[in-house]
Amino acid sequence: MVLRQKSATSLGHLGLHHCIMSAFVEEAARCVASVVQSRNVDSMAPLRRESSVLRISKADYDLIRWEAERSYPQECCGIILGTMLGGQRLATMMVPCRNERIDAAYHRYSIPPEQVIAALKLARSRAESIVGFYHSHPDCPPRYSTTDLTEAHWFGCSYVITSVERGHAAATDSYVLVGAEERKKFQAEEIEIVANPQPLGIAL
Ligand SMILES: [Zn+2]
Repeated sequence: MVLRQKSATSLGHLGLHHCIMSAFVEEAARCVASVVQSRNVDSMAPLRRESSVLRISKADYDLIRWEAERSYPQECCGIILGTMLGGQRLATMMVPCRNERIDAAYHRYSIPPEQVIAALKLARSRAESIVGFYHSHPDCPPRYSTTDLTEAHWFGCSYVITSVERGHAAATDSYVLVGAEERKKFQAEEIEIVANPQPLGIAL
């Protein structure tokens, strides 16, 4: 089952504190490993392998959306572990996190640094890496906000946003962070739901 989604619209953020950012420079650099290209509709077939795709199991996809509903009317947030190759990321594990923006959790989120570190350690123990983050937009479209972009620092990683309308998960979109810190941007990417995720090295 393949579910293609284009970018839509909205608010949100990955509140990784600046104080911990330096600790993640090395990991983030790893995330940049690949140049992610935007999907070219006119030549999608020949560029299929190079296009930006987040491959995720139906169970994990549903978990993200369930988290979004469960957290409503607050934003949920979490980390996606997996492997990446070229413009593809294969999600293998979701790590639900606590939104520590209790002052404005209805439209902001921040993942506690210790949970990011724990996720990094978990990923490394699995010979994987952090390949993305997810959060929700209560009663807002799944479009990244200016704050989302400002607070995003993991180049080459997916940023998945689920809109929740009156408590029910609606659209889920994903964007990949590309460029450099001073000229970064989000590019819409495809979400491909796969039945049985396999390591990219084998799948390809
Ligand atoms: Zn957001």
